[in-house]
Amino acid sequence: MPVTAELFIIGAGPAGISAAIEAARLGISTAVIEKNRVGGTVWCARRIDNFPPLSSISGKALGTMFQKRFDRAGIEPIPGEVKEIAAGIECGFDLMTGAGQKLEARAVLLAIGQVNRLPEELVPFGGHIGSPGGMYPSGGNEVVVYGGGDAAFDQALLFSDKKCGVRIFCRSVPKAKAALLREARLRGIPVNEGFVLESAAKSGAATEASFRGPDGNRTVVSCSCLLAALGKTAPDLKICGRFLPDLLKEGVRESGELAVRGVFAAGDVRRGRARNVAAAVSDGIMSANGALAYLKGVRNGFMGDR
Ligand SMILES: Cc1cc2nc3c(=O)[nH]c(=O)nc-3n(C[C@H](O)[C@H](O)[C@H](O)COP(=O)(O)OP(=O)(O)OC[C@H]3O[C@@H](n4cnc5c(N)ncnc54)[C@H](O)[C@@H]3O)c2cc1C
Repeated sequence: MPVTAELFIIGAGPAGISAAIEAARLGISTAVIEKNRVGGTVWCARRIDNFPPLSSISGKALGTMFQKRFDRAGIEPIPGEVKEIAAGIECGFDLMTGAGQKLEARAVLLAIGQVNRLPEELVPFGGHIGSPGGMYPSGGNEVVVYGGGDAAFDQALLFSDKKCGVRIFCRSVPKAKAALLREARLRGIPVNEGFVLESAAKSGAATEASFRGPDGNRTVVSCSCLLAALGKTAPDLKICGRFLPDLLKEGVRESGELAVRGVFAAGDVRRGRARNVAAAVSDGIMSANGALAYLKGVRNGFMGDR
């Protein structure tokens, strides 16, 4: 028997958790599926200073708070990864998981965050490059961070906390928030501007990264970890025959509903570059309410159009 729910929430990060709690308050029969760890991406962040109820908190501590709040809500997440969403019977949806399970829902809420972007020119070196949240080198290691945004500086500071030697290489002027730039400067983390990664290769236990500098000269650096933090993008999930990035381009209603009626998006997945915990929490609440309005319409005989 397939698992069925009125609303299936995919992802249990801040957006999915707030949506699940709100949906329960609204009396919607809800299920949550999570492929990794309840709490989502906040686990990777070094510090979160812009979530208003808390003055400053580590990503780990905030992840723990989200996890505990979710546990208290009594919602048991289904472990698994949704690979595709297809049109189901009576305008419902079939969610297909990587393990071949089929889940059925009347409405779907995507709270799946974004995936790290590996620019095309770096794909050949993909195996030698880590991404934010995916690497935890211990003290004493040499880390090179490639990127100049918030995530690059956050991760550089995280490795510096762990007593790693850290260097940042960015393609242009760093664009991270002032507080992160200031802290990196205070720590003496070298920031090399105008460097483009040209190649990366393993050499024994080390990775050798070759950059073309602003003067056109080549600089080769040896490190134990090379981490690329070059932005994020919406996952390529297939929904009723269409890809999520294309659906997002068509626009998202205030309720979070996409061009496919009955499918909602909350948090980072719909936020482009404006990714943050507070917006994810607020989106989760808005989308759960949007889903309720949609479900009421369906109950009253309006079957939605696709
Ligand atoms: C290094 C770093 C530093 C940051 N610093 C800050 C900061 O200082 N302040 C701030 O406000 N924000 C910060 N953020 C951003 C913040 O973590 C995100 O905005 C927030 O976690 C978004 O919540 P979300 O629920 O939308 O997505 P996520 O937290 O990414 O959660 C998505 C969840 O969905 C799951 N999932 C994805 N796909 C599937 C699937 N197909 N099937 C099942 N499950 C799936 C994932 O495993 C994940 O648990 C930082 C992020 C990073 C990476």
